[in-house]
Amino acid sequence: MRRYTAYMSGERFLADKKSIAIHDLEHEKNDCLIDEIIRLGNELPFKRLEDAIENGYSKCSFCFGKNGNNFDKNYNSI
Ligand SMILES: [Zn+2]
Repeated sequence: MRRYTAYMSGERFLADKKSIAIHDLEHEKNDCLIDEIIRLGNELPFKRLEDAIENGYSKCSFCFGKNGNNFDKNYNSI
């Protein structure tokens, strides 16, 4: 679920500055704790997954799946 609160303006991806993970809000799971990230003020919006990867964020294993938690830049199911 995309968010329109705090720093989020409907972007698909949300990075957690604390855990250095990037989440896909179109596939978020309860385990992602997105609302907790926002509550703590650790969210950073990204429109493009590639940009987050280039900034050093790694994919969350919950919303990207167990095989997605790496630095594969060829993720193209967007
Ligand atoms: Zn996630």
